[in-house]
Amino acid sequence: MATGNINVSVENIFPLIKKFLYSDHEIFLRELISNATDATLKLKHLTNIGEVSVEYGNPVIEVKVDKEGKKLHIIDQGIGMSADEIQKYINEVAFSGAEEFLEKYKDSAKDSGIIGHFGLGFYSAFMVAEKVEIISKSHGEAKAAHWTCDGSPQFTLEEHDKTERGTEIILHIAEDSIEFLEDSRISELLVKYNKFMPIPIKFGTKEETLPLPEDAEEGAEAEKATVDNIINNPNPAWTKQPSELEEDDYKNFYRELYPAQFEEPLFNIHLNVDYPFNLTGILYFPKLGNDMNMQKDRIQLYQNQVFVTDNVEGIVPEFLTMLKGVIDSPDIPLNVSRSYLQADGNVKKISSYITRKVADKLNSLFKNSREDFEAKWDDIKIVIEYGMLSEEKFFEKADKFALYPTVDGTYYTYEELHEKIKDVQTDKDDKTIILYASNKDQQHSYIQAAKDKGYEVLLLDSPIVSHLIQKLETSKEKISFARVDADQIDNLIKKDEEQISKLSDEEKESLKTTLTEVVPSDKYTVQLEAMDSNASPFMITQPEFMRRMKEMQQTGGGMFGHFPEMYNLVVNTNHELIGQILNTKTRKKQERLIKQSLDLARLSQNLLTGEELTQFIKRSYEMIK
Ligand code: ADP
Repeated sequence: MATGNINVSVENIFPLIKKFLYSDHEIFLRELISNATDATLKLKHLTNIGEVSVEYGNPVIEVKVDKEGKKLHIIDQGIGMSADEIQKYINEVAFSGAEEFLEKYKDSAKDSGIIGHFGLGFYSAFMVAEKVEIISKSHGEAKAAHWTCDGSPQFTLEEHDKTERGTEIILHIAEDSIEFLEDSRISELLVKYNKFMPIPIKFGTKEETLPLPEDAEEGAEAEKATVDNIINNPNPAWTKQPSELEEDDYKNFYRELYPAQFEEPLFNIHLNVDYPFNLTGILYFPKLGNDMNMQKDRIQLYQNQVFVTDNVEGIVPEFLTMLKGVIDSPDIPLNVSRSYLQADGNVKKISSYITRKVADKLNSLFKNSREDFEAKWDDIKIVIEYGMLSEEKFFEKADKFALYPTVDGTYYTYEELHEKIKDVQTDKDDKTIILYASNKDQQHSYIQAAKDKGYEVLLLDSPIVSHLIQKLETSKEKISFARVDADQIDNLIKKDEEQISKLSDEEKESLKTTLTEVVPSDKYTVQLEAMDSNASPFMITQPEFMRRMKEMQQTGGGMFGHFPEMYNLVVNTNHELIGQILNTKTRKKQERLIKQSLDLARLSQNLLTGEELTQFIKRSYEMIK
């Protein structure tokens, strides 16, 4: 039997490992299963190329909990290690790696900016074990070896009588880590980290009902059998070529990824590159609607089928973190801070590759099945609009397929819309005015008025639309957006038909004075307009700019500052009622008429609420009785 000192200069490395990496103890299992997987794949490779002549067979990796003995076993049938190899790979390589690792990360590991997962390797076992044993039989001639280490730098290494090829790692679970002796906890970890690893992983057994034989008698009971409980799917869809997969395979894989999810994804994007970086994966567009409380953290990042994290911030552009699915790339550095990650050349390329693929997929859907694309628009627009705002490259591509629906359900691209309205909806300065509503019911009367004039009215109701509008106004020439109830509309309408005012200048002057005395000036700017006598006598419009800035502030961004709640009260001097107000002799009655009219205008803008609404209704009943 050999004993010796593991060659490390840090006197007691294990307490350090625990201390620095306490938040991530659970990853030890992933690391040990990764080693077991590597050992199995190495053997497969060597038998494939004829280097070794052993039977590869159907190897599995087994995880066993021995609750009474307080031990956890990880057993593989891989390449194995001889005593010499243990000496070399574990004592020298693994532990010098550990020391180096700690040197490098002892400060930064405390910093939350570090991604919570490292390629820790074998020594992560000491995060949860007070003693670790390795029993290993190499595929070669050498006798099996038995290594033990109790967490001090001393180890023992002796012969063992194990005859089957492979390695068994035995963790003597420490008192503060007994959670890892619970089947349920181990099961949870296996599902989280190892669900798609390439070698079958066995954890316990399960009962399975066998199919009835063909000649079974009626009412015969199906036989049950105890079979290995394999927890993983070694060949997940993303590892296959797109040509091997049908639509249903993608849907089934989605269900495998999100078993608790009942909604089907809208469509998927298969990622597959091997140069200049390696990346595979499948992204799904879920139904998103107008929900800005986007559920992020739904894309899972893997490296060679080993789960790493579901926080892909910095790897995938922000707007795509709303999608779901899997990305697998060995080329993403993980033991670095987020800011370093974003500056990494490979990561940048990966991020722009993903953006391009998503844009291309959307473009081909738009081109090949526009009807379907239109039907899905409401569920995907938030991602597209967000992408247009945050990624210039994406904006350029999406400009061709982003849709602008009208209140009547026609979907235009920007170009189509512009073509349609450019000669109709222009103001005095020849600017094209794009009219939109944000709520069909609330802005009904304004929408109707605009439609009556033959204008197109868009329905733009996503929560970030004010930002997008702002962006479009700066990147397109000579256009301006105006909500149907905004003041800019006046410019459009005025240009259309110059009305002759029925009031004289003196009458206008007198009307204006009376109105400003009654209408609260901190809220309303009174404007007299000569309009069609059939148009409403009082109309409330909102300055487009002010309202939009407010909306932008609510969803983050926009200009700083306080934007007051200001409205325009547009008074139609050609309406009969206005003449009546002007000619009312008693001041009291005049005031009553103005107040009632103002309330009606506010009512149609949904601005009359609470006490004032109650009073208004009461007053109205008084009037009709
Ligand atoms: P890494 O896996 O990153 O190389 P580890 O510290 O996890 O580092 O392991 C060190 C080495 O020990 C491995 O490279 C491998 O040669 C050997 N090893 C670890 N676990 C096993 C195993 N289950 N079977 C065979 N060899 C192993």
